[in-house]
Amino acid sequence: MYDVAIIGGGHNGLVCAAYLAAAGRTVVVLERRAVAGGAAVTEEFHPGFRNSAAAYTVSLLNPKVVRDLDLPAHGLRVVERPIANFLPLDDGRYLKVGGGRTKQEVAKFSARDAARLDDYHARLGAIADVLRALVLETPPNVVEGHPLAALAGLVKTGRLARRLRRLGLDGQRDLLDLFTGSAGAHLDGWFESDPIKAAYGFDGIVGNYASPYAPGSAYVLLHHCFGEVNGRKGVWGHAIGGMGAITQAMARAATARGAEIRLSAPVREVVIDNGRAVGARLDGGEVVRASAIVSNLNPKLLYLDLIDAAALPPGFRARIEKYRCGSGSFRINVALAELPDFSALPGRALAEHHGAGIILAPSLAYMEQAYADARATGWSRRPIVELVIGSALDDTLAPPGRHVASLFCQHVAPQLPDGSSWDEHRDEVADLMIATVDRYAPNFARSVLGRQIFTPLDLERTFGLVGGDIFHGTLDLGQLFSARPLLGHADYRGPIPGLYMCGAGTHPGGGVTGAPGHNAAREVLRDFRRGRLRRAR
Ligand SMILES: Cc1cc2nc3c(=O)[nH]c(=O)nc-3n(C[C@H](O)[C@H](O)[C@H](O)COP(=O)(O)OP(=O)(O)OC[C@H]3O[C@@H](n4cnc5c(N)ncnc54)[C@H](O)[C@@H]3O)c2cc1C
Repeated sequence: MYDVAIIGGGHNGLVCAAYLAAAGRTVVVLERRAVAGGAAVTEEFHPGFRNSAAAYTVSLLNPKVVRDLDLPAHGLRVVERPIANFLPLDDGRYLKVGGGRTKQEVAKFSARDAARLDDYHARLGAIADVLRALVLETPPNVVEGHPLAALAGLVKTGRLARRLRRLGLDGQRDLLDLFTGSAGAHLDGWFESDPIKAAYGFDGIVGNYASPYAPGSAYVLLHHCFGEVNGRKGVWGHAIGGMGAITQAMARAATARGAEIRLSAPVREVVIDNGRAVGARLDGGEVVRASAIVSNLNPKLLYLDLIDAAALPPGFRARIEKYRCGSGSFRINVALAELPDFSALPGRALAEHHGAGIILAPSLAYMEQAYADARATGWSRRPIVELVIGSALDDTLAPPGRHVASLFCQHVAPQLPDGSSWDEHRDEVADLMIATVDRYAPNFARSVLGRQIFTPLDLERTFGLVGGDIFHGTLDLGQLFSARPLLGHADYRGPIPGLYMCGAGTHPGGGVTGAPGHNAAREVLRDFRRGRLRRAR
């Protein structure tokens, strides 16, 4: 008997465990796979070559979580990219973003755009600051019943309104645009040249199976801006040892505080007794009992697969069935004999652009077409690829002189429109993605020594990401903040007493943030303090 059993040892489950154990609770984490970390793990995918298997770049990881769990003391080191992005273009030119030279680079395409950059960053930064301030808060929760029950929500809403007022009317208009509009309209309103719009617009379609002109994509863009690396806001970096270094440090932090982590322990069912969640039944039949059960899983997996329909309130299950999931992402890791030699910036010797997020998608129109193609035929023949060469910043990943790269590819259909299985198309689509890089760096395909492929179906099977959804549910207005995962359950509490949620399907959503795990732990501890949960011993 434990105080808390956490189903799933993704990074949020580990963070939640560390906070609960630090507060003196007895905690067990039950992870299905043989390794903890969920979608943030490092694996050897080809002899001698290791890479972040799924998630591959760090920024959103919350600095308070890093501090509270003392992750650097547990081995975490994050380094900045030398420049943020490199976009080789079809006409032989290129754009570099970051490294203090964005203005000069953008001016190659438009002096007007270069002049607008400071203002753009200041305005977007002000909204990102609001989001940053909210990620570690429990959103106002909508409740029924006695007016007093709604009091906490009203107080929080009042605080939020005060914070928004500080933005001024113009800032509030920006915020409205970013929460409801499209990344395309937002960027078209600021800039005229394609490359900078593509560089920034990429964030609006990452993991978001939509056109950059779809309403709501501006929020996804914003979602990728609230992070920081080593105190530098909005910057993306690399964890030495890959993303697994983050989750291994979290696992060490959790165990050092007394939590137990059981690997290869798939949970088959949440045990409900007298209307209360009291345990987790493993595949082998063993029941792990606890006062509180916390789920790190996509809400669909939790409520549709692990809980008897009769135990859920009427209507709740139907809502969860409609919970929207599905990214248009296809992920490849490659072992490389040498660095890519880009036609736009020739050279096989390590240079700063090799350490960037290399975006192969020259314009928003290209991205829109990729989405239309994927809707029609399952994937675009001109897909969007971000190439990140981890070994350009980290010599622990590949043998000397060799390299590893992540290809994060969008847009593919989560479910193929002709009804065929992704298993039939894995290699064909991986070949296309590699050929897409080859168009810009003609030595790329022949330098590939080995590869690991994740179709949307593989992402679901391997990591439990429903529809390959990297965020545990789309980040649209209907599934954000007080509505994540569902109106009335934004406070990390499920509809059954004793049941909680701590995964990316809760506020503030996806990404390697640690924030849902942090916030859920706070709510569980509050219920222990209020006597709603009893200590196991
Ligand atoms: C291809 C890809 C690229 C990404 N790139 C980035 C990136 O570069 N940067 C970034 O910040 N984010 C990125 N993300 C998003 C990020 O990885 C996720 O949003 C994040 O991992 C969610 O964390 P989590 O702990 O909530 O859930 P998960 O990481 O999904 O962990 C859930 C855990 O639950 C376990 N589980 C499932 N079912 C059971 C069961 N029945 N019993 C026991 N355990 C179970 C799973 O095995 C898993 O370990 C990416 C995701 C993907 C898929």
